[in-house]
Amino acid sequence: MTANRTSGLLFDADTTALAGATVLEFAVLGSSSAGNSSVLRLSSAHASRQIIIDGGLSPRATRGYLSALGFSYEATDEVLFTHFDHDHAKAGWARAALRDGVRLRCARRHLPLARARGYPDVCIEAFDADGDGFNLGAIRVIPCETPHDDGATVSFRFDTPAGSLGLATDLGRASSTLIESLRGVDVLAIESNYDRAMQLSSNRPEFLKDRIMGGKGHLSNDECIDAVRAIAAPRAPGHIVLLHLSRECNCPDLVRNLWSRTLPALEPKLVIAHPFQPTELIRLRREQS
Ligand SMILES: [Zn+2]
Repeated sequence: MTANRTSGLLFDADTTALAGATVLEFAVLGSSSAGNSSVLRLSSAHASRQIIIDGGLSPRATRGYLSALGFSYEATDEVLFTHFDHDHAKAGWARAALRDGVRLRCARRHLPLARARGYPDVCIEAFDADGDGFNLGAIRVIPCETPHDDGATVSFRFDTPAGSLGLATDLGRASSTLIESLRGVDVLAIESNYDRAMQLSSNRPEFLKDRIMGGKGHLSNDECIDAVRAIAAPRAPGHIVLLHLSRECNCPDLVRNLWSRTLPALEPKLVIAHPFQPTELIRLRREQS
């Protein structure tokens, strides 16, 4: 077992011995414009809560990726949505929610979009995206709204007895409110969508480039680094997961090189999400005192 202690948290690779401990696990199942989904699970000897963040992969694909990680699809309590673009909310979750009893949770302002996706009212529970947050079992969820296209995206901070996680994707920009909301998290998952030069020289139509780069679309690699630098002061996350890399206008090697040059102390903490396979499982464990 490799382990090191940071701020009272034990990061380790031991999957056993839950007794007396609370464990937070996180992995990105897949992330790209083809589909985005992540899983978060909080487990103790007494209870477990499994949350899917974004239903941008079909329930069938989600089941397969969860299984590859050693997770059970049946243990899923809910799907939490950042927004309802097609790469974050597949229509198949309408039937799956009814069939499998999975709750679908979204911001109140997104309710019409959830209904338009065919998600049945009886399965949906809305939350206030600008409120103080809400509890899912022992997990405190604090949402934060940011502009995206003509609507908004919700980023999340999850505070748990085993540590904290922030997830922010499809951001027009990283507002000071968002940065404050995510400051101090143990695990930070944030989008690093495109390389500016690749975007500008791509064959994409100008209106699309403007939409992506215009402050209400996506974060570039440089904008992501600026956001992480701000969030990481004064305490850097133990893990940084980069989401939603464009397959056309970005490249994992280029991103790593950029981080090595600009934030070398944080580069070893990077995990770059893949479009079609899960990331490694990140695990935070806290012994009960
Ligand atoms: Zn997206």
